[in-house]
Amino acid sequence: LIQLAAPLNSLGMLYREVQQGLANTDRMFALLDEPVEVRDLPEAPALAIAGGSVRFEQVGFGYQPDRGILFEVDFHIPAGKTLAAVGTTGAGKSTLARLLYRFYDVDAGRILVDGQDIRTVSQASLRAAIGIVPQDTVLFNDSIYYNIAYGRPEATRAEVVAAAKSAHIHDFIESLPLGYNTGVGERGLKLSGGEKQRIAIARTLLKNPVLLVFDEATSALDTRTERIIQGEIAEIARQRTTLIIAHRLSTIVDADEILVLDHGRIVERGTHRSLLAGGGHYAALWAMQQQTREGLDDRDFAARYA
Ligand code: ATP
Repeated sequence: LIQLAAPLNSLGMLYREVQQGLANTDRMFALLDEPVEVRDLPEAPALAIAGGSVRFEQVGFGYQPDRGILFEVDFHIPAGKTLAAVGTTGAGKSTLARLLYRFYDVDAGRILVDGQDIRTVSQASLRAAIGIVPQDTVLFNDSIYYNIAYGRPEATRAEVVAAAKSAHIHDFIESLPLGYNTGVGERGLKLSGGEKQRIAIARTLLKNPVLLVFDEATSALDTRTERIIQGEIAEIARQRTTLIIAHRLSTIVDADEILVLDHGRIVERGTHRSLLAGGGHYAALWAMQQQTREGLDDRDFAARYA
């Protein structure tokens, strides 16, 4: 029996890890589809967090050996700052987040968090430091309370409510007949994209990670909801090192640095204003998105940042 206990125990651990991974990262990382390629070094120490700076040094990566996805990607996010990655579909933006979370190891270069190569620390400690608001939040078939509390299961009710308030979803929850006990997910109340994203934000706030990854939804939210969520992200990004994978440029006008990726290479970098002034890819992308945005409200918004 004792001989059996160890493998069963490690199976249990694996199961919990998979569960945890799924809950935290949802579809973006669909863990079960991903090969397990990454292992802890024997007795790998925990990541020692000191502010949460992130450095990609000449990172090269491909999912398959014969097809490179990222080439010589080099950037630094100082502790507490926000970096945004933009670019065409398939440019490799989400791959940056997957590498930071260490679902895969880089083929070239290295990734450092607070000066430590992420391959040398335990995955559990690395992942505990990172909160992800995924593109499309998949909710558990359980109560709203459970879905938020998952960010930190030992949190008190007061903390769960405070996180919901910060994510501007508390009033909505209270307006439901069953409040926090309302069932959601496939078999429960259907929530809008914006409401689901706020639950994901509340969950992440409760986790209180030092590093935040926000993978913006590709599917458009209505302009008003989008604007509100942008404000919320800006608020929670303020004290954290943040990587935003952006599809709409309006989300990232205030980022400390913006990288423009094309076919796995950084082709431009700078602030919103410097990139607009540069008249390159970013400026062209911005002009294109402005044309497709509708409504006076948006033109005002564009004028403020032009
Ligand atoms: P989008 O804006 O459409 O979300 P992206 O810039 O985030 O795109 P990535 O998701 O990083 O792009 O994908 C970069 C490239 O890697 C794409 O060509 C994609 O097909 C490929 N890719 C992504 N995940 C895998 C995987 N698990 N196995 C093999 N190739 C993959």
